[in-house]
Amino acid sequence: MKTVAVVGGGFAGISSAFYASRKGYKVILIEKSTSLGGRWHGVKGGFDNGQHLLSGAYKGTLHILEELNCSKYFKSTGALKVNFCEDGRQFLFDTSIFPGKVGQLLALLKLKGLSIKSKIGILNFITSLLFNKINSQNKSCLEILKEYQQTEEAIIRFWKPIIVSALNGQPEDISAELLLLTMKKGFFGTKADSALIYPTVPIVRVFEKIKEELSKSCEVRLSTKIVNISKTNYYELETSKGEKILADEIISAVSYPQFKKLFPDIAGSFGSFNNIQFSSIVSASMIYSKHFTDYMLNALLGTKAEWLFDKTRMMDNNRHKQDRHNFEYAITTSSAEAIFSLKSPEIAELFDYEIRRIFPKSKDAKLIDYHIFREKSATPLLTSTMQNQRPKPQKINGIIISGDWVNTGYPATIEGAVLSGIRAVDRL
Ligand SMILES: Cc1cc2nc3c(=O)[nH]c(=O)nc-3n(C[C@H](O)[C@H](O)[C@H](O)COP(=O)(O)OP(=O)(O)OC[C@H]3O[C@@H](n4cnc5c(N)ncnc54)[C@H](O)[C@@H]3O)c2cc1C
Repeated sequence: MKTVAVVGGGFAGISSAFYASRKGYKVILIEKSTSLGGRWHGVKGGFDNGQHLLSGAYKGTLHILEELNCSKYFKSTGALKVNFCEDGRQFLFDTSIFPGKVGQLLALLKLKGLSIKSKIGILNFITSLLFNKINSQNKSCLEILKEYQQTEEAIIRFWKPIIVSALNGQPEDISAELLLLTMKKGFFGTKADSALIYPTVPIVRVFEKIKEELSKSCEVRLSTKIVNISKTNYYELETSKGEKILADEIISAVSYPQFKKLFPDIAGSFGSFNNIQFSSIVSASMIYSKHFTDYMLNALLGTKAEWLFDKTRMMDNNRHKQDRHNFEYAITTSSAEAIFSLKSPEIAELFDYEIRRIFPKSKDAKLIDYHIFREKSATPLLTSTMQNQRPKPQKINGIIISGDWVNTGYPATIEGAVLSGIRAVDRL
């Protein structure tokens, strides 16, 4: 039986290990941290490093979670309800009125806070998208939105919150191809596809379960960092502790900065993809003495806090659920370069200011505690140039590549990572 070493225990590595063992290989999954999960991980105090959401269209991810007995830790929003908030006013995007695409289009028509002109423009865009009429090649999101005569208001209040949160970059930077795919498969896909899926427990519990399930068919080695790889008759993976792990095949499932360190020669052959930049995400867990929103998902328009999630509604056993004086909210700011270098108290103060400006009910709520999480290289910044140069799934110099940076057609997301693992196993 051939041995496959999978280096990296994020979603790409989990997916590679799972499918390689299904194919009958002896699999060793190697992760340098103390837990699986990679860029989605738990932090001290039982928090996640940021609010991660799955789309109902993430078929690969949902399948693997099911196979690894983890679906029970996730819930679906069902029909999507997003509360768009601005300066004390709130506009509900509610797709529950009617099932499927009709519901989504009706929700758009009923959405207050957008002029008729903006709504007609968005509808035209979506119709062209659904009939595959849009040519996105080599264009940024902003270019394509302008080409389809989206009003300034629609760009700022409708498109930008979607692009920044789903693709972690600004409309002028991100490849239009990725926006079209996200809109078509997710937002304006079937009712199930347009739902959002969220964890109801701290994510560490999910990764503990994944480890337990994977360990039935693979060897999972945590706290094991690979520092060098050489080849004679087989691959020799050297760990930071000087141990040698032998394997017939290698799947690399590390992020691109780590890939460049481990495989500089292969990275060199990817040419100007090596100039890829990364976008950051700043998240916070804010605990208040009062409940101040009626909705789980809140888009905070025109603020630096962007999205607010009501954790009391989301978590099964939220630590604050029993306590009527502590209400936890998660805030996520994607493409967060403007606030990344602020100190934690400054970020908390800024988020607190935005919350009080947006939610009138928060006026007399006391901020009891906060935790700030920063991820500098949260995702690769996929401009149209980088999207064109993004390496396709392949075996190169004997190494099979996977990770969210590999071009599966998906953006650099959890689903992209999972699909890259599936494609990697196809190359064994
Ligand atoms: C705060 C935040 C919020 C996000 N929100 C979302 C979201 O809502 N939805 C979504 O789809 N995506 C989201 N993303 C992006 C998503 O998390 C990533 O796209 C995805 O997790 C990448 O998975 P991966 O397996 O490709 O890489 P990683 O998760 O980076 O996994 C690589 C693993 O390799 C390990 N490793 C590296 N070097 C070595 C070595 N030498 N030896 C052994 N192990 C090594 C690392 O420790 C890591 O565990 C978010 C990211 C962040 C940071």
